[in-house]
Amino acid sequence: MTPTTNNVVVIGASYAGSSVAHIFLKHIHPELPKKGAKYHVYLVNPSRTFYHRSASPRAAASFDLTKNIKMFSDLPSGFKQYDPNIFTFVRGTATALDTARRLVRVDCAEGDELVIPYHALVLATGTSTYAPILSTYQTSLEELQRTILDMNSRVKAAKSIIIAGGGPSAVELAGEIGEYLNGAAGWFSQRPSKPRAKVTLIAGAGKLLPILGQGFSEWADSLLQRVGVDVIYSLRTKSTEQAANGTTLVHLDDGTTMECDLFVPATGVRPNTAFVPKTLLNEKGYIKSNESTLRVDEAGPRVYCVGDVGSYTRGGLIDLIEAVPAAMTNLKRDLLAAHDDPDAKPTGPDELYKTIAEETQLIPVGQTRGLGAFCGFRLPYFMTYHFKVKDYFDCGHEFASGSRWVKTRI
Ligand SMILES: Cc1cc2nc3c(=O)[nH]c(=O)nc-3n(C[C@H](O)[C@H](O)[C@H](O)COP(=O)(O)OP(=O)(O)OC[C@H]3O[C@@H](n4cnc5c(N)ncnc54)[C@H](O)[C@@H]3O)c2cc1C
Repeated sequence: MTPTTNNVVVIGASYAGSSVAHIFLKHIHPELPKKGAKYHVYLVNPSRTFYHRSASPRAAASFDLTKNIKMFSDLPSGFKQYDPNIFTFVRGTATALDTARRLVRVDCAEGDELVIPYHALVLATGTSTYAPILSTYQTSLEELQRTILDMNSRVKAAKSIIIAGGGPSAVELAGEIGEYLNGAAGWFSQRPSKPRAKVTLIAGAGKLLPILGQGFSEWADSLLQRVGVDVIYSLRTKSTEQAANGTTLVHLDDGTTMECDLFVPATGVRPNTAFVPKTLLNEKGYIKSNESTLRVDEAGPRVYCVGDVGSYTRGGLIDLIEAVPAAMTNLKRDLLAAHDDPDAKPTGPDELYKTIAEETQLIPVGQTRGLGAFCGFRLPYFMTYHFKVKDYFDCGHEFASGSRWVKTRI
């Protein structure tokens, strides 16, 4: 009799999803019983290119500034190290999830439709941004390159730019564009001497950087001024409109309108959960996940959620680097228990994940400066520069190739 194949299906192959697949293939699969059921990993993602989106604010100003950063990595190449009989990369988009029959429907890039049964499922579809250049939800390298080049030429030509948002992405974007176009203030001055463009950041709140204190907001404001960026507080963009002369009219919630050559929305993210049954989503559209075990309890056994799409987290790489090994430890326990009997549950305690609550963020503001918070304290500049300003961690390729996970606690 041919042994059954237990499919482990991973949806989304960015920082979280590719980590899951590599950890499974490196550390879990070798430890599963060799007798009985076989295992096969399906990793589903719309594009075969991993986009190191942490550095996208710098790429948005000018791709030439990212020469020391590996912005793109080929996902299938990163998985060539494993036995092809146990791994398949599916270039496609999950369009439906049936938790009763344990099936995922995928629209493949080649045009056909695939229905994949799963024994275990990991949802890692992350979030999308309003500005495509900041999003990992891309369908091809070519599309991504077009988006970046189009943005670069619009930045270069603009005399006035408005960026909406007050979080880290908006501050990073404004800083990168500001320094690229205007340069930086010299000694004894607060503003660049010959600015080429008027760059304005419109923050909806009364301060910048929501999770950090007021002092960090003031620090960010002064660094932005240094590269010729003005910040307007407590004002929200309501809508935008293309004017006949090619400029963009930005309508604000106080009834006024501003005009600019380039408008970039950097006002937060939306979860990529259109394919997930509504009953599994919270009121904001994130997947309801157990905050300790990272299982999606309402979806049946062996269903997990990791990364920004989960309700358990406020997002970020530091957080998912902690969460993924916890989820994978629990998945391994589930798989070992269910190897002979799919209804069997593991005995003993799960590994419990704990949210990282401390105020820790590193934020480049241009190509030479930045601010850093570690557990609420200011980091010295040279540390922020070393860890992030110089190359935005340059870690995308480590996730895509799995080198990030050669060692892990599983
Ligand atoms: C501009 C910007 C800068 C950032 N900088 C930092 C930083 O410096 N430090 C930090 O800690 N965090 C940073 N973040 C946050 C960080 O990028 C996220 O935490 C991280 O991307 C989350 O990874 P993820 O794998 O959960 O989801 P995502 O990176 O959002 O990836 C989701 C993946 O799922 C795929 N997908 C979506 N829908 C489907 C579907 N239906 N079927 C199949 N695949 C699908 C997408 O194409 C994508 O590949 C930044 C975010 C932004 C926007």
